[in-house]
Amino acid sequence: MPKLTSESTYGTVERALPADLVAELRALFDAAVDGIIVADERGVIAEFNKAAERLFGFPAEQVVGQPLTLLMPEPDRSAHDGYLKHYLDTGEARIIGIGREVRGQRADGSTFPLALSVGEIEGGSRRRFIGLIRDLSAQRAAEEEAYKLQNRLEHVGRFSLMGEMAAGLAHELNQPLSAIVNYSQAGRRLAERKDPGIASITACLEKITEQAMRAGHIIDKLRDFLRNDDATKSELKLNDVVLSTLNLVEADARAEGIPMLMELADNLPTIKGDLVQLQQVLMNLTRNAVDAMRDSPNKDEGILIQTTRLSSEEVQVSVLDHGPGVSPQLAKSIFLPFITTKRDGLGVGLAISRTIISAHEGELFCRRNPIGGAIFGFKLPVAGRG
Ligand code: ADP
Repeated sequence: MPKLTSESTYGTVERALPADLVAELRALFDAAVDGIIVADERGVIAEFNKAAERLFGFPAEQVVGQPLTLLMPEPDRSAHDGYLKHYLDTGEARIIGIGREVRGQRADGSTFPLALSVGEIEGGSRRRFIGLIRDLSAQRAAEEEAYKLQNRLEHVGRFSLMGEMAAGLAHELNQPLSAIVNYSQAGRRLAERKDPGIASITACLEKITEQAMRAGHIIDKLRDFLRNDDATKSELKLNDVVLSTLNLVEADARAEGIPMLMELADNLPTIKGDLVQLQQVLMNLTRNAVDAMRDSPNKDEGILIQTTRLSSEEVQVSVLDHGPGVSPQLAKSIFLPFITTKRDGLGVGLAISRTIISAHEGELFCRRNPIGGAIFGFKLPVAGRG
C-alpha cells in the first residue's frame, strides 16, 4: 500500500501533519481517478495510488522502492535515467511541468498509451516528483474505431459512386451505340442500292463519327473521375494494401468455399499511391478470381495473392486463380470497357482498374497460370522512382 502515513519515505513532513489531515490526503490520493505516482530524485517510486495499481496491474508494495523505469517500455526505459539526470544537472525540463503522451508498461508486459503530467514537489528535505497518469487506451481505441468507420464510409461512398457511374455510363453509352448501329445499317442499305447517293452515305458516316465522339466524351468523364490526383496519394506499403483489401474480400471468398492464400515478400520498397483506388483494383481482381473459381473443381486450391520485388525500381502484386483461365481471343480485348462474359456483368471492372494503374504509372496485366487458371496483377514503380 502507498505510505502517505507516518512511516512514509518522507515521514518527516507527514509526521508533522495532524492524523485527520493525513487520513484525508490518503483518501484523496486513493480516490483519484487518475494514477498518481510520487518518485524521488533517483527515480525511485515512493507512492503509488489505487488508480495506478489498476492501471499498471502492480500492487503498490511491489513497486514502492523500485525504479520508475519498471513502468515504462523501451525506448523510454533505457533513456529515462538520462532524462532525469539531465533535468537535475541543468534544470532544463523535457516533461516536468509540460506533460506529454507516452506509453506505460503493465505488470503483464503489455503497453498502453497514457497522458503523463509531472510536477516537482517543492520544499521538504528531498526533491520529489509527482506524476499524474491518465489512461488513453479507451480514447485511442475510440479514435481508431472512428478512423476505420470513416475509411469504410469513404469506401462505400467511392464504391457506390463508381457503381452508379458505371451504371449511368452504360445507360448513357447505350444511346450513341444504338445510334451508331442504326446509322451503319442505314448506310449499308444505302450502299446496297443500285444508285447509292454518295451524299446520303457521307451524311450517315458523319452521324456515326458524331455519335462515336459522343461516346468518347462519356468515357472521358469517367477518366476525369479517376484522374491521376496527387492529393490523394501517399507513401504506401504494398503488403498493407494487400492485407487491408483482404479484409474486404475474404468473406466473399469464404462464402464460396474458396481459401485465400498470401505470399508476401519481405522488405518491399514503398510505393506512392491512392490507397482506396489500389484497394479497388485488387478487389476487382480478387472478385473476378472468385467468380472464375465459383464452379471450378479446383476450388480447394484457393486464390493466391503474391507480392514480389521485380527490381529496385518496380514491385508487383499478382492474383493467381485455378479457374478456367482467359481464352487468347478474350485476352486481346479483356481490358476494354464493356467486355464481359458474365450474365449480369458490366465489363467495366478491368477497364477502370487499368485506368487506375496507368494513373499510378504502373501496368495491369493478365497471364495464363501455367498450372491452370489465370494470373491478373499489376506492376507499380517504387516511391520516388516513378
Ligand atoms: P465483369 O466482372 O463485370 O465482367 P471485368 O472487366 O472485371 O468485368 O471482367 C471482364 C471479363 O474478363 C469477365 O467477364 C471475364 O470474362 C474475364 N475475366 C476477368 N477475370 C477473370 C479471371 N480471373 N478468370 C477468367 N476470366 C476472367
